[in-house]
Amino acid sequence: MGYLIEKPPVRYCLECGEPIAYGGRPDRKFCSCGCRNSYHNRGYREVRIIKHRITSALDKNHDVLSKLLRMGVTAMSLPDLAQMGFNPEYITSFSKNGGRTECRCYDIKYFLTPTRIFSLVRTNIV
Ligand SMILES: [Zn+2]
Repeated sequence: MGYLIEKPPVRYCLECGEPIAYGGRPDRKFCSCGCRNSYHNRGYREVRIIKHRITSALDKNHDVLSKLLRMGVTAMSLPDLAQMGFNPEYITSFSKNGGRTECRCYDIKYFLTPTRIFSLVRTNIV
């Protein structure tokens, strides 16, 4: 009779995919400090890129809406807005108001339908 010595399952580095040497903490996720740093730095970089993309889209939307208000325009079709660089998916808040969809881009609010926006107005932020 002998003993069956069960080896812990082999773990693989989340960064490079190499097997992680035994030793140290049993829940190690990386083969080295370099791999751990690379992995986390890339994660933060991706978050920064996503945040930059969202704030750029919101800034662009706000620019378009501000331009419309300066021209005295309070309604426009979504295709015309898209031509100006407006993307209706980027808003800062949203509410249902009497069955209508009210959206805000910072201090500017409007109602959104599947085809257009209307009642565009700048609100007073206290
Ligand atoms: Zn590694």
